[in-house]
Parts: sequence; C-alpha cells; structure tokens
Amino acid sequence: MTISSIIDFTDASIPTPIKARVAPERLEHRELLSGEWWRKVPGYAEVDEATFLDHKWQAKNSVTSAKKLREVVGDLATEAFYADVEEGLRLAPMSVRVSPYLMSIIDWAEPYGCPVRRQFIAVATSLRGDHPKLGLDSLREQDDAPTPGLTHRYGDKALFLPLDTCPVYCRFCTRSYAIGLDTDQVEKVALRPNRERWKTAFAYIASRPELEDIVISGGDAYNLRAEWIREIGMTLLSLPNVRRMRFATKGPAVMPQKLITDHEWVDALTEVVEEGRRLGKDVMLHTHFNSAHEITEHSRIGIQRLVERGIHVRNQTVLQAGVNDSAEAMTLLVKRLAYINVHAYYVYMHDLVPMVEDLRTSLAQGMWLEKQVRGSAAGFNTPTFVCDAPGGGGKRAIHSADYYDRVTGVSVYTAPAVRPNELFYYFDPIHALPAEGQARWADASEHDKMMEEARVGALANIERMRP
Ligand SMILES: *Cc1c(COP(=O)(O)O)cnc(C)c1O
Ligand code: SF4
Repeated sequence: MTISSIIDFTDASIPTPIKARVAPERLEHRELLSGEWWRKVPGYAEVDEATFLDHKWQAKNSVTSAKKLREVVGDLATEAFYADVEEGLRLAPMSVRVSPYLMSIIDWAEPYGCPVRRQFIAVATSLRGDHPKLGLDSLREQDDAPTPGLTHRYGDKALFLPLDTCPVYCRFCTRSYAIGLDTDQVEKVALRPNRERWKTAFAYIASRPELEDIVISGGDAYNLRAEWIREIGMTLLSLPNVRRMRFATKGPAVMPQKLITDHEWVDALTEVVEEGRRLGKDVMLHTHFNSAHEITEHSRIGIQRLVERGIHVRNQTVLQAGVNDSAEAMTLLVKRLAYINVHAYYVYMHDLVPMVEDLRTSLAQGMWLEKQVRGSAAGFNTPTFVCDAPGGGGKRAIHSADYYDRVTGVSVYTAPAVRPNELFYYFDPIHALPAEGQARWADASEHDKMMEEARVGALANIERMRP
C-alpha cells in the first residue's frame, strides 16, 4: 500500500456523536508495560535489555526454589512471606519454576493479591482443603488414552502429549499427575520425549480415519526442540486424515522472549504452518494467558513476529479467584488479547486439581462473568466459557448445565456427542458455598444424598427441556 492510496478525510466534518465518548482510562487495555521494568527487582537490577530478551537466559535463570526466590526478590518481600512460600512449596503437588519474566511482573509490594504470584508460587496460608470429590487426573485423560500420552475422547480430535516439561510450572496444572518433577507430594507418570512412544501415537492416529484434529500439548510445545516441532508437525501433516492441528504452549504468556530471540524455533513452527497452508490444512498456536498483567510490550512484539508470518494464535484462560474473576479483570484481559491479535477462545471453569481450592470459583461466578464480558469485544474475540466436566464428558458451555444447586454447589452436565446417556458432575469450592451447603459437605453421610438430589434433579430438567 502506498501513502497516496489513503483517502484524505481531514476536510470532512465529524458527525454529531450518538454514543458518549470513551474515557481514556477505559482504553487501559492498550497500555502495555514497557521500558526496562525488570530492573526494579533486585536480582535483575543489572540485567540489560539484550540479556532479558535472550530466551536461553530466561530459561537458565528461572526460579526453581524458595532459596532462589529470596536471592532474586531480596528485600522487596518480607520474612513472613518467604516463610509462607517455603511451607507452601513443601505442600504443593507441582514443582516450582518461574521465569524471570514472570518474576519481574509480580507485584512484590502486594504479593498476596498479585494475580501472577497466585498462579505460580504457592503460599501455605492461602491453601484450603481439597474438595471430597477431587481426584488426581480428574479429567480422566489416562482412561481415554489408547497409548501413553495420547487421549482420544472426542470423535474427530485427539490430544497428543509429546513431553512432560514446561517452561514454567503452574500451581493449578490439570496434568499435575504427569507434568514436572516428582515432588514431596506426588510421584508423576513419566511422559518423556521419546520417539518410540511418539511413533505408537502416530500409528494410532493414522489408523483412525475419523481423527482430523490433533492438539499437540504436553507439557508444553515451547520445550520441544525446533527439530521436534518440525518432525511432529510434518509427520502429522503427512497423514491424509489429519486436517487441523494446534501446538499448545503457555510460552507466549510466560516467556514471550523466546518468540523474539529463538529464531530456530519460530522458523520451525513457520515451516509447519506454511506446509499446512500449502496442503490446505490448518495449523495454529494455542496459548494460555490468564491475566492482563501477563501481556506486556514483549508479548506484543513476540506475537507480532507470529502475525507477520501468518501464524494465528488463540487463547485459553482458566477462571481463577483473585486472578481474573472480576468483570474488570476479565474484560481487560479479553480486550488486551484482542489488541495484540490473539483470539480469546475459551475460559475454563477451574478443574478439580489437588491443593488449589484457593484458586477455584463457583459456577455462578463463571455464569455471571460471562454475561459481563459478552459484548465488550468482537464475537471472535469473546471467549466461550466452558466447564471440562470431571469424568471425561469434555468441555461444555457453562450455561448449558442441566442442573445447578447453588447451596450444595453441585452442577450436572450431559455430553450427548461425546458420552451419551451419562451425567457429569462439577463441584463449586466449598468455601464459596452458603453455610448450609458447607455444613452438608462437612457431614460425610450427606454426600451421597447431595449427589442423588443432583442426579434426580438433572434427569427431571432434561425431560422438561426436551424439545
Ligand atoms: C480440549 C480437548 C480437545 C480439543 O477440544 P476443542 O473443544 O476442540 O478445543 C481435544 N481432546 C481433549 C482430550 C481435550 O481435552
Ligand atoms: S504450562 Fe500448562 S501443562 Fe505446563 S504446568 Fe502450566 S498448565 Fe500445566
């Protein structure tokens, strides 16, 4: 496009406004953290921009222990906070791994309230007891796995887990049964990057003509070497039945520097996307921003590298208390994602994962938020709020619950296209329930009764709503 092709409208009169002008503070989504903000963290005071942008430096300097955390944060946090972290990490099912990027955007003046700290660094005083209905691998990914690391739940799509490591570890990981190092609390199922295991997965995918859509997750595709991205991508593209694939990575949200300085990795992804385009197949990147604070000038530049190469990015968010459960926080996230050209795809109700009840919210909160958010951005930038119902029903739109009792916090979903004639139950965190509901969960003899009420109620509603 040349400048001369732009229409000069400076002499046109501005029409009389109908809508009130938007106050500048309502455009906060465009104000991205920039400059050398990391230097205010004592451990990074001497780190220049080139170093901070170096993805290898980011990986090597990630914080993996309470001791390292203290070295980096120094006097920005209190002794009481450090003690709280030490105890929190001892109890957590996930090992700790936090990139310097995340460390630099945590609000160390208010670490308890900080949406980034809450996701990655456990503190003992916030922990709450697990829900009685919670179990490791609540999504039953292992039950639907014909071979280790491949989950085939839906008809035409499968989830491939080529490895079990990530650039960071999230406290709330749904796959805490496999991801990360063994901890004091959990011995993990190993999913090492292993070509023999991958070959078995590819053979299964090739043997099922109905499989068109492959999610490559993990672990995290950020930790796949460039050559592995190419091998996995090209192998899947070579299968005639595979029409769509997505590389899933939390990377852009937790270490956008890799998109800026790991040229080999971005080039490998680009090659796969271009080969897909040549074959008429769809290859995308899926990422996982949970809070608008995670989107900085580095995220914008990193995503722009992908946009320039025609690589589309979608986002999946987990709804979390104190992270994104207010209308302001979620709207800001959705608008900021749109601003950097990332499509907000899903917001998930938090899975029932051990030791993160402090992060879960009620279904009512999710339903309310959905209404607040819808209409604030384009439809394709507006996430669908879903509940990945425990037991393997897959993702259901939260408003489609067949039953919801706000006192007991039990909701029920059906998934006719996935597992017909079954009911799937989700449970609000007990601390969010009214006193009556909390009392019933405190009494073990009430548990079966609450489940039976939900079952009977759901069946009646399904009958009543049948078209
Ligand atoms: C989420 C998921 C998929 C992909 O589902 P979409 O709704 O298409 O994003 C596929 N397989 C499993 C097991 C999943 O959990
Ligand atoms: S990046 Fe994803 S797979 Fe890895 S720990 Fe976080 S939530 Fe789990």
